[in-house]
Amino acid sequence: MRRSISCSGWLRTGRKLTASLGLAAVAVMALSGTALGTQVNGPTPIGASGLTAGHSYTYTFDPSFNGTDTTKTALRNAITQEIATLALSNAGRPDWIGANLPRFTYTTATSATLKLGYSHAQAVACNIKDPKSASTIACTTAGAIWFSEQGTPTWMKYCEVAAVSGCYTAKTILLHEMGHFLGLGHYPWTTDVGPGATYTVMQPQAKTLGTAGYNQTYYGTCDVAAFQEKYGVLSTASTYSPCLPNVKVSLTLAPASTTVSWDSSVTFTATLKVATGQAVAVNLIANRRVYLITSTDGGTTWTKPGIVLTQNSPGVYSAIASGLITTSLWRAVYDDPGAGEALLGATSASSTVTVKPLF
Ligand SMILES: [Zn+2]
Repeated sequence: MRRSISCSGWLRTGRKLTASLGLAAVAVMALSGTALGTQVNGPTPIGASGLTAGHSYTYTFDPSFNGTDTTKTALRNAITQEIATLALSNAGRPDWIGANLPRFTYTTATSATLKLGYSHAQAVACNIKDPKSASTIACTTAGAIWFSEQGTPTWMKYCEVAAVSGCYTAKTILLHEMGHFLGLGHYPWTTDVGPGATYTVMQPQAKTLGTAGYNQTYYGTCDVAAFQEKYGVLSTASTYSPCLPNVKVSLTLAPASTTVSWDSSVTFTATLKVATGQAVAVNLIANRRVYLITSTDGGTTWTKPGIVLTQNSPGVYSAIASGLITTSLWRAVYDDPGAGEALLGATSASSTVTVKPLF
């Protein structure tokens, strides 16, 4: 039996579907690094098109979400809190500076980029599957996210209302559907198998109370990777998700002068940035450890650990080498950070600094 990837509807836990994939041109992100799995990105049938990285958009609640009953109030509060958290942390993960996501702020206006509604019928109706599944717990269209109602269908229970067996957490549902709205597809991991438990909220089936990650309130490592590809990193200091394909970096080194007097000094400047042609855009890479190594002219043996460069501006590092008495080769080195992020290490080309003879 084939597990369904239903990009617009999030399905009840444990429900298996036999419908085949309807994605014509999926982009498969090959993983390396820590090999967390394979993500199937969009195109997805969902999401507002043309959302711009870092821009601010509005959201509002559909009239179906109006009312003062405790259920709607609890759900609106949870959703509002989650969107505010996303706007602050820019990909959700509290320990990362992640992706440059579009932001959403609340408006009382009836017209907004994103409308949040409360209707099981609408959630089922917006599902792309045919036949449509009554097990849809939430669904995303180009302009709205629809939540099924508490008790409709009868198994639909929100943990925000009462943490009982089988309940779903609205914050996590919001994250998942917002992921679609922002252009993500699904990861194929099932609800409680493999690394998908907490590395992503973009699984085809929702989790319930007690399952690892059922109440996750931030995007997982692999969700951030997909966002970094789509919207770019948030800043030069961002961590490049280890769920990205390996990211080659460019490291250049330039001496302020290639010819110096005997026993004098020279300033080296190194620039570290993402190489062209990677899954993520070319950006300067800040706050990393870059160091200088040296060798005799024509030599192949390099001093280590060398001189650690100081960062002058994001991604630009420098150091002064003094007491130069012989012509030497110089290189900058950035070590592979390993499993912590997707960046690869790099060594610059060699620069020769010629020391003029005393006489
Ligand atoms: Zn989904």
